[in-house]
Amino acid sequence: MAANLDNDRLPADFPSPPSWADRLHPENLTIFLFHGVVEQSDYLVRNYNRKHLAAADFRAIMTALSERGSALSMDEVIAHHKNQTPYPEYAFAVTFDDSFENNLTVAAPILRELGIPATLYATTGFISNNRMSWVDRIEWAFEEKCRFDKAVEPDLPWQDTPVRAETAEEMRALLSDIRTKVKSGLISDPDAFATEIQVQLGLSETWTTPDPLDKKLTWDQIRELHDDPLFIIGGHSHSHAILSYLDESALANELDTSLRLLKDNTGIDPVHYAYPEGLPDTFSQGVIEALKDRGIVCCPTAISGYNTPETDLFHLKRFLVM
Ligand SMILES: [Zn+2]
Repeated sequence: MAANLDNDRLPADFPSPPSWADRLHPENLTIFLFHGVVEQSDYLVRNYNRKHLAAADFRAIMTALSERGSALSMDEVIAHHKNQTPYPEYAFAVTFDDSFENNLTVAAPILRELGIPATLYATTGFISNNRMSWVDRIEWAFEEKCRFDKAVEPDLPWQDTPVRAETAEEMRALLSDIRTKVKSGLISDPDAFATEIQVQLGLSETWTTPDPLDKKLTWDQIRELHDDPLFIIGGHSHSHAILSYLDESALANELDTSLRLLKDNTGIDPVHYAYPEGLPDTFSQGVIEALKDRGIVCCPTAISGYNTPETDLFHLKRFLVM
């Protein structure tokens, strides 16, 4: 087992990099949502869903987009919506969620070279503590076991008996299932759940690793990006909690903490924000009002689709690239 899967090959359903330019629309705006870009991806289990693209693929996608279309910053998007002016032809915008360090070290040089602006939505709790998300902490644990030819057999609250996964492929399938179940709201505290899995697998509780899939931007690096006019920093919550699941005071705390940390550490008073997860049930009118009360002007979702200048700035759609 632990056969070395051909990890450099893109999955069959991943469009070829240049074909992402076919997503561009002559009149409407296409916003792309990225997470990470890495020089190398030689993992057995991790990054199976291409959350972190290979640098060569990212470069090919960006080159094709810039040849075909017109890149807009999210500030320019706001201006088109406020003034109700048509976008340039085949308009697109580039966004990154979750504050991975590789956004600066790998993606930013490519974007600078091509002159493509990007907005980075920063999760302040990830930055302050170089912290991993719950799903990355479980992925990391599975990778550790797989690398040493060990099976995983976690006891999952929605299963009657522990589920065994031996091969990398079985582990990826199990991760996919865990992802879906946890995101459906089945687990009230995903961070505690990730700790439980790590401990069940005989590993120590791990919140941070130096791996490019895990490392987050530091405050100095956020400032460096903010100082470059090509990049805009927005908020993306403090703990990556799903905002619509929080009661009023927890929501206020989540938003206020993220905005205060951005302000204190970088001087940024963001008008840009992105909902964690960003799917239909993860934000609500209450969430939108709470964001507006705090000076946020634009908050895209992660729902696939195009935008017109009439689209509400709190319901913008984005195509997830992974
Ligand atoms: Zn996110």
